[in-house]
Amino acid sequence: MNPCNLNQLGITRENPWAVGHFNIHNQEFIRAVVRAADQERSPAILAVGMLSVKYMGLEPLISACQVISKETDVPIAVHLDHARDVDVVKQALDCGINSVMFDGSALEYEENVEKTTKVVQMAHEFGATAEGEIGIVPHGTASVSEADMTNPARAVEFAERTGVDFLAVSLGSVHGMKTAGASLNQDLLRQLHQQIPVPLVLHGASGVVDDHIKAAVENGIRKINVNTGLKVVLKNFLSDKLAKDPDSDLLDDFDLGMDAVNASVAARMRLFGSSNKA
Ligand SMILES: [Zn+2]
Repeated sequence: MNPCNLNQLGITRENPWAVGHFNIHNQEFIRAVVRAADQERSPAILAVGMLSVKYMGLEPLISACQVISKETDVPIAVHLDHARDVDVVKQALDCGINSVMFDGSALEYEENVEKTTKVVQMAHEFGATAEGEIGIVPHGTASVSEADMTNPARAVEFAERTGVDFLAVSLGSVHGMKTAGASLNQDLLRQLHQQIPVPLVLHGASGVVDDHIKAAVENGIRKINVNTGLKVVLKNFLSDKLAKDPDSDLLDDFDLGMDAVNASVAARMRLFGSSNKA
């Protein structure tokens, strides 16, 4: 029954397909993802990020996800993305969110362990799942240095000490890329997948070329975060449509924009191998 937590989406460490985590910001994005999930018979994650919380408000956004997720019978999770404040995690859990990510990647290692452990315990008390991050996936146009990539021994220790259900790792992707140009360190990923006892998460997937996404799923990625790519689809569609047809009804434009995002989400579900896995 929707919404559900990440453990109820059918993902396992072993099975070679990944669930899509799609950042949503308003009705257009939420319905685009839920409809694509329904059409593809694919599980999906509606992800609530901090910029979207600032835009729409935490409770209105989580509530909209909870209500709209009931429009399909395929499993849909509502997940808090990149929380850096334990109080925001608590507020989201109080709103009934099913899963939370605490991003302590910029903190000192011990502080990251301590805060992530606290978030995991809080989430589990609510029946929610928790994701942590080790290594740094940078934002903007910065490239990824060797030092930012996830260290396997550290990651194993981090997963064991914190008890996270999912672990985000740094393999070469960058947040916020508007075109796909990044490749991933697949050797490092194979090593991490072999050694880490929980499913691995790829952030910054909008900037990664399709071949590397496919290989990453084969090599152990089980959750793939997509944000910027979908914003680009809606923005391009609307700017085109408004230029060509300035007298149209705005609600019709939004409706067609939703269809464009829907198609892009469905294509990613097929790429990730999650279609027909619900
Ligand atoms: Zn991210």
